[in-house]
Amino acid sequence: MNNKERLYLEIESNSENESLARVVVSAFAARLDPTLEEISDIKTAVSEAVTNSIIHGYEGKEGIIKIECFIEERQLVVQITDTGVGIKDVGQAMKPLFTTKGDQERSGMGFAFMEIFMDELEVDSKIGMGTKITMKKLIGGDYTNGR
Ligand code: ATP
Ligand code: MG
Repeated sequence: MNNKERLYLEIESNSENESLARVVVSAFAARLDPTLEEISDIKTAVSEAVTNSIIHGYEGKEGIIKIECFIEERQLVVQITDTGVGIKDVGQAMKPLFTTKGDQERSGMGFAFMEIFMDELEVDSKIGMGTKITMKKLIGGDYTNGR
């Protein structure tokens, strides 16, 4: 890996930066020549992860969200890290429809979307320490599929 294949970004935890993060990561991924559908998948996954850091990790308060992207061969790796409250039970949190904020119109589908739209999802979290999400997606991997 050389420096050309890495992006590192720190953003303040707010919703304007959530849309910024989505655009920056998809622009970075563009060098892998993704389809429009792949771009849309990446944007959705980044959006869900950053929104979780803002709403759950920092509970709407100030905080820094780190976004790191790599390219490994034709695979995009995106890591999103906060140093917020952390998740008590990651297995439970990742289940579709599980939410701790059901009262605030949350549907508990964020992790499910990250799993659907990316190829791999890993969640590392520690109460009081924060949460790190690692997502991977192979871009343009299947050229037999009408591309
Ligand atoms: P939705 O994403 O559909 O709006 P949601 O955010 O509650 O709802 P998920 O994104 O699947 O659903 O997250 C499930 C639960 O995991 C959250 O309700 C929250 O308790 C916990 N969680 C997720 N991300 C974080 C984070 N970065 N820090 C702390 N807790 C988190
Ligand atoms: Mg969510």
